[in-house]
Order: sequence, then structure tokens, then C-alpha cells
Amino acid sequence: MDFELTPEQEEIREVARQFAEDELGDKIAPFDERHQFPFEIVNKLAPLGLLGVLVPEEYGGAGLDYVSYALIVEELCRGDASVGITMWAHNSLCSNHIALHASREQKAKYLPRLASGETLGAWGLTEPGSGSDAAALRTRAEPRDGGFVLNGSKAFITNASVGGIAVVMARTDPGQKAKGISAFIVERGTKGFSAGRPYRKLGLHASDTAELIFEDARVPAGNLIGERGEGFVQAMKVLEGGRIAMAAMGVGIAQAALDQAVKYMKQRSAFGKTLAEFNGLQGMIAEMATDVEVARLLTLRAAHLKDTGEPSAHAAAMAKLFASEAAMKAATRAVQIHGGAGYITEFPVERIFRDAKLTEIGEGTSEIQRLLIARGILESV
Ligand SMILES: Cc1cc2nc3c(=O)[nH]c(=O)nc-3n(C[C@H](O)[C@H](O)[C@H](O)COP(=O)(O)OP(=O)(O)OC[C@H]3O[C@@H](n4cnc5c(N)ncnc54)[C@H](O)[C@@H]3O)c2cc1C
Repeated sequence: MDFELTPEQEEIREVARQFAEDELGDKIAPFDERHQFPFEIVNKLAPLGLLGVLVPEEYGGAGLDYVSYALIVEELCRGDASVGITMWAHNSLCSNHIALHASREQKAKYLPRLASGETLGAWGLTEPGSGSDAAALRTRAEPRDGGFVLNGSKAFITNASVGGIAVVMARTDPGQKAKGISAFIVERGTKGFSAGRPYRKLGLHASDTAELIFEDARVPAGNLIGERGEGFVQAMKVLEGGRIAMAAMGVGIAQAALDQAVKYMKQRSAFGKTLAEFNGLQGMIAEMATDVEVARLLTLRAAHLKDTGEPSAHAAAMAKLFASEAAMKAATRAVQIHGGAGYITEFPVERIFRDAKLTEIGEGTSEIQRLLIARGILESV
């Protein structure tokens, strides 16, 4: 068993860490406060290759492995989870769906634009009436005049209003559940296709989340990804990688909470001692640090399995479940260690606490991860 990163993986982690130190953290606070998307900061990810991490080099991407990808996502989310989720939803969901399942022509047309950062990508599966039960989606794609006409809406979509390209799952056969779903590439500017006003969210204020709306939106037949009826299976495959990214996001947030807790414990005094000298608080950071380490190992293990072509869905669900709950636990403790200071916006832990919650909800809730893990165990014996 080898726990060492390659020199290339170390190097890319350092690039992401430096970017987070230079561009994120305190610099994001004003955007978070204004619920504003930080275009100028997100644009700086492109020259570093961070908007085409998983896209093969022949289509203009960096073509990196999942271990490198998890390290990048962790470092960005350690700096700021809003920029982190913007980056990984673009990479893991939209670009990766096209990279995994689209035709050569579709890849050649769309991937270079996504990888270069010319445009951001969104990915729409969730609807107002279906999230965990994704196969119950109702957005219709009716074949008409050699193309498809889409009607319906998608809810809670990352990069919905800032993205120029969306991959969208829609029902082509109302008589079937999962097998009646197909995936389409829809471009901004398509008549009848629009984004709603971004939601006001609990956390991740500097990320863009909005509805995607389809009102007789005409999509060419050439934008169907793969075959009709394959969309749900494609989406589940995409989510497998997405869960590794969400796990890495949890690791980054948990690490950020630990960083802030340690910093504060060393500077704050009570009863003539620094907080760092209190045993009770030492116990808290010991447990936080252990959780971060376990979450990181599970995440990198899932990424490694994916890189080596081994089955990784079970490991990804475990990593996502543990890392997201570790993030929430670490953020709660970091706020506690800050006392009243943790409850006001002047200190980063307040933002970290709000951002952490999403990791237990997106890419399949903790309950759904438990269900998937249990199913895997029960089916294997
Ligand atoms: C900020 C943000 C960004 C997002 N980005 C995207 C995106 O880019 N693309 C996209 O498609 N979606 C996105 N989502 C949607 C997200 O994936 C869903 O919110 C999530 O899958 C949960 O679905 P739901 O909200 O419909 O909850 P529901 O499915 O209604 O679940 C409600 C509750 O019931 C529980 N529950 C449901 N079914 C079961 C069961 N079988 N057993 C036990 N408990 C169950 C859930 O765990 C949860 O606690 C995003 C959401 C947010 C908040």
C-alpha cells in the first residue's frame, strides 16, 4: 500500500493551495456578504488549467487523474467553498458528462470551450418535484421536426445563471421511469431556455444556484448525448465522480474549520491562559484533526480506485458520507471554540459553518449515501 503522492500530484496541490491563499479566504468575504458571484476570481482558474481538470488533453484540458482532482478541490474549498463548488460542478458534472458519454463531434464542439474557461458549465438533474428520487423527473423532451422540444424546470442548479452550456436530463419516454430519461446539451441563447433568479441560500453565497427553465425550448437532435433512454444511467455514472468531488469539498471545509480553530485557540485567552491550554478544547481539535485525516484517506482511496479502473461507487459513497459529516462536525466545533466571535460574520468560521451544511445535502444526501452503502453490503453477501 502506497500513501505517497507523485511529484506531479504534489505540484498540482501546491498550485491550488497557492491560488487559495492568494485569491480566496478573506478576499471572498465581501462577495459572500453581497451574495455576489466572483467572476474575476473564477476567471483566474482558467489559466491554471483548473477549469479543464478532467477533460482529455486532445480537447484542451489538463487530463489529470482523480487523485490530483481531489487534491485540487480540497485546497480550493479550504480557501472558499463557493469558488470550490463552482469549479467542481463545472468539471465533475457538466464537462465530465460530455467527456464520458458524448460523441467525438460533441466533445470537439463543447469541451474546448469548457476547458479553456470561455464558458462555465451547469448540470441539471434535480427538479422542484424530484431530488433523491431523481428518476421521477418530469421535464419533457418531445421529439419534433427532427429535434427535441423541452418543457419543464430544474431546481437548485449550480452555475445555472452564469453558465453558457448545460447538460440536462429530460424525459423522452413518459411510459418508462429511469429508462425513459435522456441527456441533452443545451446552450445559453436557445429560444425558450432561461435561468431563474439565483436563490438566496443559507451558505455558499458566492456561488450561483438557480432554476433552469424550459418553455418550448428547441434542441437539435445532434445535442442528444448517447442514445435515447441512456440519460439516467449516464447521470448516475457522472454522480459517482461528483461524489468524490463533494467528499473532497468536505475535507477542505473540515480542514479550514480546524485551521481557524487552532489559530483562534492560540490567540484568545481566558482565566489567564490561552484557549490552547484547555484540555477540553485540545480534545476537540484532536478529534477534528482525526476526522479530517480519515475523510482525506477515504476520499483519496475512492479517487485512486477510480484512477485504476476498479469499482469505486461504494468507496465514493463512503467518502462522501464521512467527509460531509466530518465537515459539519468540525465547523460546529470551530464555531464553539470561537465562542461569541464564532457567531458573527467578522470571523471566517461563521461562513465555513454555513457552507458545510450543503455537503450533507448535494450529490445525494447523507441518508441516500447510507442507503447506497447498505445496499452494496447486503448485495455482496
Ligand atoms: C446549493 C445547492 C447546489 C446544488 N447543485 C445541483 C446541481 O448542480 N445539479 C443538480 O442536479 N442538483 C443540484 N442540487 C440539488 C441536490 O442534489 C438535491 O437538493 C439533493 O439531491 C436532495 O434532493 P431534494 O432537495 O429534492 O431533497 P428530497 O429528495 O426531497 O429529500 C428530503 C429529505 O428526505 C430524505 N430522503 C429522501 N428519500 C429518502 C429515502 N429513500 N430514504 C431516507 N431518506 C430519504 C433526504 O435525505 C432528505 O433528508 C443542489 C442543491 C443545493 C442546495
